[in-house]
Amino acid sequence: MTFKPALIIVDVQEDFCPPDGALQVPGGRDIVPVINELLKLPFPLKIATQDWHPEDHISFASNHPPPNNIPFESTITFKNPIDPAEKPQTTRLWPVHCLRGSDGRGSDGAKLVPELNFPKEDKVHRIVKKGEDKRVEMYSAFADPFEKPAVKSDLAKILREENITDVYCTGLAADYCVYYTALHAAEKGFTTWVVKDAQKPVKQENMKEVEETYKQDKYKIKMVSKDEVLQKIKQ
Ligand SMILES: [Zn+2]
Repeated sequence: MTFKPALIIVDVQEDFCPPDGALQVPGGRDIVPVINELLKLPFPLKIATQDWHPEDHISFASNHPPPNNIPFESTITFKNPIDPAEKPQTTRLWPVHCLRGSDGRGSDGAKLVPELNFPKEDKVHRIVKKGEDKRVEMYSAFADPFEKPAVKSDLAKILREENITDVYCTGLAADYCVYYTALHAAEKGFTTWVVKDAQKPVKQENMKEVEETYKQDKYKIKMVSKDEVLQKIKQ
């Protein structure tokens, strides 16, 4: 297959960025100029994802009773809603973030940061929403974490329809949504790259394990710098 890359910009939303975000990733806003440089490249497909939660979402600490409802600390275990026999998933709880709002237009915190420089008339540019089902956490922009997912986005379908071979992942956060999106992309057979200077983690200490996992034979995900991507995509 001919090399046809897609750029995926994961969750670069106000709530994940300083100074006002509800779930700020340290330095989250600093990656925007790097992503803007990537957006100028002739990627045939550029996709942004948006965390997009209802108020009663399972990942919000405030939706659970004490004592296990401390944001950033507590975890909960949840079952696959369509297959309760599947091994349950344990997930961290967070402050309320990225509310889609009752009118579906999104809270201020759910908005993509305005400095992102999307090409205005770019017909290939798409936005994929994630985390809309209150019953499951959905870090990956492809699906919930279950083996037989209860919730899937259109992302895999969009990539396949466009005959994409390679996926370049950027965004927030490097140790959660970028990470799980990259793993799913590789599992689905796309050659997967993570642009290391176009992402930031919630916790730097998580990155060692993230990078070790990327190297596994099962995934073969490569970390590249923005400059390496500039070289490759210009060719
Ligand atoms: Zn979320």
